[in-house]
Amino acid sequence: MSTFLGMPAARGGSAPDAAAPDTLAGVGRPDDPLHWGASFPDAARTALANQQLRRNLGNATSTIRAKRARVVGEVPDWEELRDAGSALKADVLARLPELLEQLERNVTARGGVVHWARDAAEANRIVADLVRAKGTDEVVKVKSMATQEIGLNEALAEDGIAAVETDLAELIVQLADDMPSHILVPAIHRNRTEIRDIFLERMGDAPPDLTDVPRELAMAARAHLRRKFLSAKVAISGANFAVADTGTLAVVESEGNGRMCLTLPETLITVMGIEKLVPTFDDLEVFLQLLPRSSTGERMNPYTSMWTGVTPGDGPQEFHLVLLDNGRTTVLADEAGRSALHCIRCSACLNVCPVYERVGGHAYGSVYPGPIGAILTPQLTGEKSDLPYASTLCGACYEVCPVKIDIPSILVELRAREVELGGAAPDTSDRVWQAAMKAASFAMADGDRFRRAARVPRVLRAISRHGVIRRLPFPGSLWTRSRDLPEPPRQTFHDWWERRARQARQEDER
Ligand code: SF4
Repeated sequence: MSTFLGMPAARGGSAPDAAAPDTLAGVGRPDDPLHWGASFPDAARTALANQQLRRNLGNATSTIRAKRARVVGEVPDWEELRDAGSALKADVLARLPELLEQLERNVTARGGVVHWARDAAEANRIVADLVRAKGTDEVVKVKSMATQEIGLNEALAEDGIAAVETDLAELIVQLADDMPSHILVPAIHRNRTEIRDIFLERMGDAPPDLTDVPRELAMAARAHLRRKFLSAKVAISGANFAVADTGTLAVVESEGNGRMCLTLPETLITVMGIEKLVPTFDDLEVFLQLLPRSSTGERMNPYTSMWTGVTPGDGPQEFHLVLLDNGRTTVLADEAGRSALHCIRCSACLNVCPVYERVGGHAYGSVYPGPIGAILTPQLTGEKSDLPYASTLCGACYEVCPVKIDIPSILVELRAREVELGGAAPDTSDRVWQAAMKAASFAMADGDRFRRAARVPRVLRAISRHGVIRRLPFPGSLWTRSRDLPEPPRQTFHDWWERRARQARQEDER
C-alpha cells in the first residue's frame, strides 16, 4: 500500500461514492515549482475543456471580486493608499542592500539568526540542516509562497523530513499530491465533494462518515492538524513583511493555523524573499489596510502575528530567518520589470483576470499563476516563456493592484523581449499566419484599400445570431473554434468620423 506522509493512502470501503482515484489525484509535485508543465496554450486548452473546473473558478473568483469591491469602496482614500504602497515599495527596492543589512542587525540583536540563500538549493539545504539538528522528522508549516517557489517540502522529503501544511486549502493540495492553483486559495479548483473524497482517501484520521458539509470538513482538518501542532518541535513559515528598523516579522492569515505554528514549537524557521521588507514599523499601517481588502475582501485579517527575535519564556526559543534571493536581484537590476517585486501576493489580479478565470492556475505551470505569475515567473527564471502572452492586456490587473504594478506594460515589454530572443512568440513561420500578415500589410498600406477592406466584415452580419458569430469556415475557424466573434458594427469608424466631420462642416457653414 502506498503511503502519503506516513498515512495509509486508502481506507477500504469507507467512501462508497468517492470519486475514482484519478479524479482526486493532482498534477503531481514538479521538480521545479517555478517552471513546470506543458506550454501555456496547450495547458489552457486542456483546462478550458474541464467544465467543472471552470464552474469552480467562476464561482470562487466572482465571489471574491464582489467582496473586494465592497470593502475597497468603503475606503475614501483608497487611491492615496495605493500610491503610498507603491512609493514605499519603490523606496525599499532603491535601498534594498542597506535595508536588508539593517534587518539582519536588528534580528540578530534580538536573538534571531539570519541566513542568506542565493537560490532554492541553498535555502533548502539551510532549512534541512536546521531541522535535522533539532532531531525531528516532521515539521508544521504556515502557507508560504517562498517555500513553494523553492520546492522546500519535496527537498525536505528527500531528507526524510515530512512537512505538514496547516493552511486548510494548502493541506487539501498536499494530500491530493497536487499543485496550488491560486496564490491565496490554493485549492480553488476543488469543490467540496472532491475535498471530502480527498480527506477520506488520504487523511488517515478522517471520520469514516465524513460528509461534504463545509463545517464538517473544516472540523476534520482541525482535529487532524491539532495533533500535529501539539507535537511539532519545528515550524516553518514565510513572511508577509519584515520591518527593517525593528527586526519584526509579520504573517497575516485567516485560520489561526499560522498563530499555532508561530507560537507553539520550540524552533521557528522563516523563509522570506528579500523584497518583502518595509523600512519602518509605521509603514505596516499602509500594507495592513491594502492587503486584506485586496486579498480576501476583509477589512482586516483575522490573525496578524508579529514577532521580533526571541522572547525568553514566550513562543519559540530559537528563531532563524532565511533571506532568499533566487533570481530577485536579477529582476531588481531590470528597470522595466523590477516593479514586479512590489507584489504583496494579494491575488487581486488573479481574481479579475479573464484569462485566469477561464483556465485556472495550473495552466501557468508555475507556483505564481495569473497576471503576476506572467510577469514574475519569466523574470525569476530568466528562461524563454509563453506566459507574457497569457493575457488580453485588458488592464483589469493594473486597476486592482494595491501597489499599482503596471502589469500590462511589463507584459508588453516581456513580449518584445521574447520576439527578440525568437522565443515563445506566436509562430510567425506558420503559413496561415504569414498569409494573414501579408494581407493585412497590403490593406493597411493604402488609405482607400484599408477603407474598402474595413467594409468586408460587415457582410458577416448576415450570419450572426444574437450579436455573435459562433462558427466560420477556414481560416475564420481558427478564431471561432475557441471563441465567439462579435457581430461587426453597422458603421466603420471611418464612416462615423466622416459623418461627424461632414456635420461639423455643415454647422460651420450655417
Ligand atoms: S501584482 Fe498586485 S494585484 Fe497581483 S498579487 Fe501582486 S500585489 Fe496583488
